Amino acid sequence: MILNEETIKRFLKLIESSNNIVLLSHFNPDGDAIGSTVGLYKFLREYGKENLCIIYPNEYPENFSFLYEGVNHIISSNGLLNAKQVIKEADLLIYMDLNKLSRTSEELEQYLQEQTAPTVLIDHHINPDKFDVVFSEEEASSTCELTYKIIKKIDSSKLNKEIGKALYTGLCTDTGSFSYSCSRRDCFDIAADLVELGVEVAPLKRQIFDLSSESRLKLLGYLLSEKLRVFPEYRTAYISVSAKELRQFNFKKGDLEGVVNYCLRIEGVEFAALISERQDSIRLSFRSLTPSIDVNKFANKYWNGGGHQLAAGGTSKESLEEVVERFEKQVKSKLYETID
Ligand code: 5GP
Ligand code: MN
Repeated sequence: MILNEETIKRFLKLIESSNNIVLLSHFNPDGDAIGSTVGLYKFLREYGKENLCIIYPNEYPENFSFLYEGVNHIISSNGLLNAKQVIKEADLLIYMDLNKLSRTSEELEQYLQEQTAPTVLIDHHINPDKFDVVFSEEEASSTCELTYKIIKKIDSSKLNKEIGKALYTGLCTDTGSFSYSCSRRDCFDIAADLVELGVEVAPLKRQIFDLSSESRLKLLGYLLSEKLRVFPEYRTAYISVSAKELRQFNFKKGDLEGVVNYCLRIEGVEFAALISERQDSIRLSFRSLTPSIDVNKFANKYWNGGGHQLAAGGTSKESLEEVVERFEKQVKSKLYETID
């Protein structure tokens, strides 16, 4: 892990000499993007930094809104000019839970490239772009795990329950409630420390994973009963959903979170996909249960995306029907199998 004293010192120096710090994360922010940015934001505020802002390329799911009390943040898809102004005034840009600027948005990427403010990366995806200070560890369960370790090194006396709640959010969402990507003891040790800080696991788990609107539960029921396709001979199952169907169930951001994992509950299924028609593109989510199906490579090679070996995503500008047809062909040709 590149968490040596020298890197911490360089980060600290940048923090201390900055008056306007902007934290950024990826498009479709998930629990880890949200938890790590909010956790670091709240820490930096405790550390004495006053001008802080988080920028997300688009909306975050409603069930994470409990973390944002008193947190200055901008959704750039709702206010691009404002976001650009804040970025321009920043004297430090901290990127979290993304490895490439292209993971922000088309509108932001180019603009971010042009900035001269120093950049810091805190992330756990492979092959990061160049940044001035890099904390990148692929083995980390989550960006929240890295953020916790960095905060501990900088000033552990500033950790508190609110920071803990944010960091716990990413720890448990990126590991599916501590069931994958957590083969080391680190994330359990950190969870234990956060509990000691006062984080209450049960209400947080209910807030993050369980609370669903009636229409979201009905959407899940519909997808499982009507839209699940299983190919036992190819160890694959997938679900596709059109924008029209999503509208029928009053779709809100985050309503499809976790749906792809249901496919993997079927005995023998090791490769799963969720294909959903969004505003102006088709979104694909992939999951694998085995390293012999590397969905990061699959998403990267065929679907303009990437992610991790066992969880990745991509997008397409084709129609939903075209995507489904192409995906089924790929399954039947076993293109998902990793050949090195
Ligand atoms: P999800 O399927 O939950 O949206 O994403 C699973 C994982 O894949 C996430 O950890 C995310 O980092 C990564 N991911 C999702 N979509 C993309 C994409 O379009 N490009 C890249 N590079 N990574 C993605
Ligand atoms: Mn993450």
